Amino acid sequence: MSGTLKDIIARTREKVPALGLTMNGQKLVYLDNAATTQKPKQVLDFIQKALTENNANVHRSMYELSDRATTAYEAARKKVCEFINAPSVENIIFTSGTTASINLVADTFCRSLSIGDVILIEADSHHSNIVPWQLAAQRVGAIIKVIPTDIFCGRGKSGRLVVEEVEKLLTDRVKILALTHISNITGLHNPVKEIISVARAKKIPVLVDGAQGVVHSKVDVQAMDCDFYAFSAHKIYGATGVGVLYGKKELLEQLPPYMGGGDMVETVSYEKTTYASLPLKFEAGTPNFIGAASLTPALEFAEYLFSGDVGETLKAEEQKITQYMLDILLRDNDVELYGTPETQNMGKSPIFTFNIKGINAGDIAQLLDKMGIAVRSGMMCAEPLLNSFGATSALRASFAPYNTMEEAEYFVSCLNRARKMLS
Ligand code: PMP
Repeated sequence: MSGTLKDIIARTREKVPALGLTMNGQKLVYLDNAATTQKPKQVLDFIQKALTENNANVHRSMYELSDRATTAYEAARKKVCEFINAPSVENIIFTSGTTASINLVADTFCRSLSIGDVILIEADSHHSNIVPWQLAAQRVGAIIKVIPTDIFCGRGKSGRLVVEEVEKLLTDRVKILALTHISNITGLHNPVKEIISVARAKKIPVLVDGAQGVVHSKVDVQAMDCDFYAFSAHKIYGATGVGVLYGKKELLEQLPPYMGGGDMVETVSYEKTTYASLPLKFEAGTPNFIGAASLTPALEFAEYLFSGDVGETLKAEEQKITQYMLDILLRDNDVELYGTPETQNMGKSPIFTFNIKGINAGDIAQLLDKMGIAVRSGMMCAEPLLNSFGATSALRASFAPYNTMEEAEYFVSCLNRARKMLS
């Protein structure tokens, strides 16, 4: 490791206290970042300080403490707005997570659909970009159709979205298209911008699940031209229980409110209520205002990871780790990897989901845990995709920019030890 790389990685890891933990007597190697990321000290300190010094309900009171809480909450909205290049803070709604953001759109948008209308989703969707649409479709008699993934290419199972099918599937009956920016199983980057331009020509609105996308790529919602973009704070170094829904103003204005309650109203009588303007129309009740406010330091940390010398160095290291993992997993005849980039240009984030012939993924995960390694096993909330690969569970190692090549090598050697123990 070169001096600069070593220094940058050491400095970065020092910022994230959990990376220094010991698990089962071993140094923790945290490779479950697609599920949630570890928090930098700046987020932890911010939350502690906010709970101590800025804790009062937002948007409600005339006293200084409440003012401070409101200011921090609205500053985070501004930070999110800049981070994804939204036109205005009115486009940014705080929710409790990606799941809540998608449910909000599925529920409110689909109320106006009719029997036989089509909601088009992707085969590589997370459950939270499938089930809300099913619930909404059932209420109005709409139909769910699916853009397939290509599962039979090359070594490993490609998992590429069959983009060529999109044009054909976008019929007049399609009322909304729900895309995945980056799959939490394959790590493959879907060409959302290109797909959106096809949908745009047919005036079909598009929601993008950015739970992984916002973490692994620079998102510009205006350049992408999506109508909705959803993500979770906890996957991008922020608090749990906080999410973001970006929406185009004209669409958000047309949608009916999702939940009713305090803060989302303008006037209320027993007979009739008028609603607050955007974004508060969709923020009923006391929000997780401290968690949401902590998006400011969380996104600052994300910016630190992605910009300047640090960003370049960490990006280069991440690419090396990705190549190393792909080489190891693809040349192993007993490994079935789900998500292989077919060309050099096809983006793949360092998310590796795979099975080893004849060995249960959960058993491997348990043995790895004894060696200090945290990886996910199971369905990863993408049962239809895993089933289409012929799998009922899998192992997933997902890296963040604070992970190192040494950790990747340690993972591979422990994986081999675990296999020997289990075969
Ligand atoms: N979509 C994708 C692609 C995800 O990876 C996840 C989290 N695993 C979600 C949606 C749901 O996110 P949350 O549980 O934070 O709502």
